[in-house]
Order: sequence, then C-alpha cells, then structure tokens
Amino acid sequence: MIKPFIAANWKMHKTVSESVYFAKQLSAEFAEVNDRDIIIAPSYTALYPVAEELKKSPVHLSAQNMHWDEKGAFTGEVSAGMLVDAGCHYVILGHSERRTLFGEKNSDINKKIKTALKFGLKPIFCIGETLGERSSQKTFDVIRRQIRKGLNNILSDDIRRIVIAYEPIWAIGTGKTATDEQAEEAHRYIREMIADLFGENAGADIRIIYGGSVNQENIGGLMNQPNINGALVGGASLDFESFANIINF
Ligand code: PEP
Repeated sequence: MIKPFIAANWKMHKTVSESVYFAKQLSAEFAEVNDRDIIIAPSYTALYPVAEELKKSPVHLSAQNMHWDEKGAFTGEVSAGMLVDAGCHYVILGHSERRTLFGEKNSDINKKIKTALKFGLKPIFCIGETLGERSSQKTFDVIRRQIRKGLNNILSDDIRRIVIAYEPIWAIGTGKTATDEQAEEAHRYIREMIADLFGENAGADIRIIYGGSVNQENIGGLMNQPNINGALVGGASLDFESFANIINF
C-alpha cells in the first residue's frame, strides 16, 4: 500500500513570513500524522526559514525548480546543492508552467532529474497533455514521450525516489478537473509504462499523483482510484483550511 502523498505548490505566492506562518500551522495540525506524506513547496526565498520551522515536523520541504548544472555562471539560477543546503528533500521538475512559459524541454528536465538524484533530492516529475493534444487523441503519445525522454538513462534503483505528477495542462488553474476516470486511465497507463521500462516492482511502488484544480470537494473521488497515490495542489493549497481538508481527504 502506497502512502498518500499530498503536496502544495505555492508557485509565486506567499512572502517569507506568510510561508513560515503556514508551515507552523501545518506542523501543529499534523504533528502526529504519519499515514500520509505532506509536502510544501514555497518560493526560493522562503525555503530556508521554512526548513527551520519544519525541523521537528513530519511535513517535508520541496523547491519548485532548480538548474541542472552543479554550479557556474548562471545568473538567477539555483542549484541542487543549494536546495539541499536550504533543507529541501524534494524538488518539482518539469512543471507545465516551466515547460510552456520558460521553454523547458524534456531533455532539460532529464538533466535536472539526474542532478537532483545525484544530490539526494527526490524529484516530483510533472507530465501532462494540453487540451488540443487530448482532443486529438494524443494524450498517451505525449505522456509516453515525456516519460521516455524525461526518465532516459535513469537507473531502476532510482525510480522509487521519483514521484510522477500527472497534470493535464487544461486542468491546471482552470477549475476544470479531469474526471476520476480520465485521471485513473492516465495513471494506469503511466504505471504500466514504468513497469515495462523499469520492472514490475518499480511499476508497483512508484508514486503517481494527480494535479489540476484539485480541491477539498474532488480529492475524495480522485484518491479512491487505485492508481492515484496523491495530489499536487496549486490554488487550493494557498488557504490553510482548504489544504488541511485536502490532506484529510
Ligand atoms: C499546479 O500548479 O501544479 C496545479 C495543479 O495547480 P492548480 O491546483 O491550481 O490547478
């Protein structure tokens, strides 16, 4: 049985003090909870102070992005080593906003995943199709290509450290969630593909979470699906009560 994995992606929201306050509330509310993994991904500036707040908490810290190189002349970028130093355990990679707004390619994401693993970070690897791709029946082709290229040359032993987030782009921030059946169909496909590429055990153990307008009303139905192991939550994670209700689905 895979532990439910509920992650908040705060994107470019919340100041340092707002992030620390939220982390404090979350730690107090879920101090005794160990039957699910709770992750928050604040902005870079809040990572270290939030990590300090989470020191004795079961809540884990994630970054929202990183560079694939270990160091160098990359003005404005942040490395995997810096994220580990700031207290991160996870890093979101390949989010659709990074792909569409900042031109990240599957090959870039593959390099980032390898570097993250090398530094002991667990990647939350995002994939998903656009509305046009779904309408033209290309969903599975897109997912297949993103997985093949994103996970190219990743060792089977490392696959368990990766969380795959299936996030149909048409459902992100739009209020349109995939139906439970649409999400489950994609998750089943991803699990089968991981089993084919990395072995039956990897397929059975990998955490595949859903993202795209998840909220306290729809989380229950999604989590009832056999291949959905959790959620990556954007908008609905910004409010404490809403995110707490999602964690308590
Ligand atoms: C996301 O940004 O990963 C996301 C799923 O956002 P939202 O929940 O707002 O759709």
